[in-house]
Amino acid sequence: KAPVVTIDGPSGSGKGTIAKLLADKLGYALLDSGALYRLTALAALNADVDLADEARLAEIAGNLDIRFAVANGEVAAVLEGKDVSRDIRMERVSMAASKVAAIPAVREALLQRQRDFRSPPGLVADGRDMGTTVFPDAPVKIFLTASAEERAQRRFDQLQRRGVSVSLRDLLEDIRARDDRDMNRTASPLAPAEDAVVLDSTDIGINDVLQKVLDLVHE
Ligand code: C5P
Repeated sequence: KAPVVTIDGPSGSGKGTIAKLLADKLGYALLDSGALYRLTALAALNADVDLADEARLAEIAGNLDIRFAVANGEVAAVLEGKDVSRDIRMERVSMAASKVAAIPAVREALLQRQRDFRSPPGLVADGRDMGTTVFPDAPVKIFLTASAEERAQRRFDQLQRRGVSVSLRDLLEDIRARDDRDMNRTASPLAPAEDAVVLDSTDIGINDVLQKVLDLVHE
């Protein structure tokens, strides 16, 4: 079986950035599992499906017509032939994704699809339950975290650079609400795998985190 490096952690911990850099460095494929939940949520919103209709949502998750296309070094998420990379990052989709992800039948419907990303020479898988549920046999598991305040501040800086004005307090509240839902759901709650290495990036930069992860991969 091809090797997998799993990178799990809460929203805004920097795992997406680290996963992408690591996949580039190792020449591995990249699985952004959050995008699958976001795509499910977007498909449901587009079809006006009630977010309480669990059976219908699981059916949507199981029949998603999606593809990840690489263009100029960026991975585009394509839903039914349309590039929806920006749409899936919208706030209402983020909120819906977080609700949809709490439904066990939806998670079950996406399980095999995620495992299918595993192929030689290897895979970097980014999410919440990569090391616990999707790839429990992964040889390297990272759990990347940072304080809620630091994650809110990073998001704030990022939005400011894009000219979006938001309140830091609202962002912090949002992050806390999402953490709460991620950690307290019954299906695959957010928690480090027993054999995961926990890295806290509150006080260290991206490059130092990447170096630590590379050291673990090469151990
Ligand atoms: O990581 P990202 O913010 O893109 O994830 C979108 C949503 O999908 C989050 O609300 C998260 O709870 C959920 N998710 C999940 N399991 C994963 C990846 C993401 O439940 N492996």
